[in-house]
Amino acid sequence: MSQAQDHQIVVPAEPVHVALAGDPPRGSTGRVAVVSPYTGGVLGTVPDSDLADVARVVSRARTAAVPWAHTPIKERTSLLFRFRALVHEHLEELAQCVACESGKTLGEARAGLLKGLEVVEYATSLQNLPAGGALEVSQGVLCEAHRVPLGVVCGITPFNFPAMVPMWMFPIAVTLGNAFILKPSEKVPLTATRLAELMRDAGYPEGVLSVVHGGSLASEALIDHPDISAVGFVGSTPVARRVYARAAAHGKRVLALGGAKNPMILMPDADPDVAITGVVSSFTGCAGQRCMAGSVLLAVGTCDDLVDGILRAASEIRLGTDMGALIDQHARARLLAAIEQAAADGAAIRLDGRCATPPVAYPGGFWLGPTVLDNVTPQSAAARQELFGPVLSIVRVSTLEDALSFEAESCFGNAVSVFTRDGSVARAVALGCRSGMVGVNVGVPVPREPFSFGGTRDSRFGSGDITGAGGVAFWSDLRKITSKWAPAVSGGWMS
Ligand code: NAD
Repeated sequence: MSQAQDHQIVVPAEPVHVALAGDPPRGSTGRVAVVSPYTGGVLGTVPDSDLADVARVVSRARTAAVPWAHTPIKERTSLLFRFRALVHEHLEELAQCVACESGKTLGEARAGLLKGLEVVEYATSLQNLPAGGALEVSQGVLCEAHRVPLGVVCGITPFNFPAMVPMWMFPIAVTLGNAFILKPSEKVPLTATRLAELMRDAGYPEGVLSVVHGGSLASEALIDHPDISAVGFVGSTPVARRVYARAAAHGKRVLALGGAKNPMILMPDADPDVAITGVVSSFTGCAGQRCMAGSVLLAVGTCDDLVDGILRAASEIRLGTDMGALIDQHARARLLAAIEQAAADGAAIRLDGRCATPPVAYPGGFWLGPTVLDNVTPQSAAARQELFGPVLSIVRVSTLEDALSFEAESCFGNAVSVFTRDGSVARAVALGCRSGMVGVNVGVPVPREPFSFGGTRDSRFGSGDITGAGGVAFWSDLRKITSKWAPAVSGGWMS
C-alpha cells in the first residue's frame, strides 16, 4: 500500500492470500474472504483453520516456549524494542491496512496503533521492575517470589481494533516468557499477519508469536487444546460468556472481555464545548464500533441547548472523511432494524443517518451517518442493548440519582462518563457508579498505560484487567520459593 493523503484510504488492487503460520497451508478445509468496509471488495483470503492446523501451530509454539522461557527478560525485551521501532517505521502502511479492513478513518487507525504501542512500551519496562520479592522470614530462611511464564497461551480478538487489541495482549505475554498464539477476527486478519511479520523481522524465534486464522472453529480448537494454558478473549458479550465457560470447564485461566452500552451523563451546567465535542466524538468515533463508545446519553433536567449543539455537530460529520464505515452489510442491516424498532418503541429520530450521503470515493461501502434518537424509553432495546454503530439514544431523566440508577441497572459495566462543571457531581458519579472505567468530561475514558483496561459485569468474565499490572498477573504465575542455606542459630519453627 502506498503513502496517501492524510485521510485517503488506498484499497489495494490485488487481493492477498495469507498462508497459515509456518507453511505449507495443508489441512485447512477452506478459506475466508476479507472484505473492505470501504468498497465491499475482497482484500484477500485467509485459511479457515481446522483442528489439524491449530494442532500444528500449538506444537511449534510448545517447542519454542521452553527456550524462550529460559531467555533472560532483558534479552527478550531487546527484541520488543526492535518491534516497537519497526511498528513506528511502518506506521502509515499499518494504518492503511487497519483502515482498509476495519473501516476506520486513517486518523483512528493511527491512534489505535499508537495506543497499542503504549502497551509495548509498558512491556519494555517490565525488565526494570522486580518481578517478585525476597525476604529472610526466619533466621537463614529466605522466601522469594518470581513471576514465571505459563507456557503456550492464546488471545482471541475482535474486528474493531485490528492492531490495538492484539497489542493489549501479546507484548506483555511474550515479554513474560510465554509463546503466544493470536486468533484475530476473521474479518480483519491482515493487520495481525503484518504485526506477526514485524515480530519475526524484529528477531523473535519462530513459534514465540504465531497467528491462527479462522472463526469459531479455530477459537474452540485453541480453547480446548491441552497445551494452551491461558485464554485471553475480547469480543461480544454472548461469545465472551461462552469462551469463559468453555475455557473454565477445562480448568484454564481465562479472561474474556465483552460488549458494552456506556452511558454518558449530561448535566445542565456542563461546559458546552467540552460536552458537545466529547459526546459527539464518543458516539461517532470509529463509527460507534468500539466498546468504549458512549451510546446512551442520560440528559439530566433541562439540557435542550446542549442537545441542540450535539445534533448540530453530529449533522456536520462527513462520511468517509470524519467518520469511517461499518464493518459489513450485516452490521448495517442490524442497525437499520434497530433504528426502526426504536421509532416503533416511541423514540423520536432527530438525526437520521440513513439519509446521509455515502462518500463519492467509496460508493460500495457500508455506510450509516450519525443517528440521534430522542426520548428513548429507559427499558427499550435502544437504551439497553449494544447496537455497535453511530447511534446515540437520548434518555431524559430528572435527577442525577435517576441517571445513576439507570447505570446501576445495566447488565454491562465498561464505562460511564459525566459532563459537568461541578466537582461534587463528578465525584458522586465516580464513586457511585458500577462501571470499571469512569470519564469526567471525557467521552471515551480509556485508561492510558500503566493504568489497566477492564470493565465489570457482562463486559468482563473473569477477574483482573487485560493491560497494565492486570496483564502481568494474567499471563504469569507467581512462584514462591522458600530456601534454607545458612546454619540455624536459634530454634525458629522452620530452622
Ligand atoms: P465477536 O464476539 O463476534 O468475535 C470476537 C472473536 O471471537 C473473533 O475472533 C471471532 O472469530 C471469535 N468467535 C466468534 N464466535 C466464537 C465462538 N462461538 N467461540 C469462540 N470464538 C468465537 O465480536 P466482534 O463482532 O468481532 O467484535 C465486536 C464486539 O467486541 C463488540 O461487542 C464490542 O463491544 C466488543 N469489544 C469489547 C472490548 C472490551 O475491551 N470489552 C474491546 C473491543 C471490542
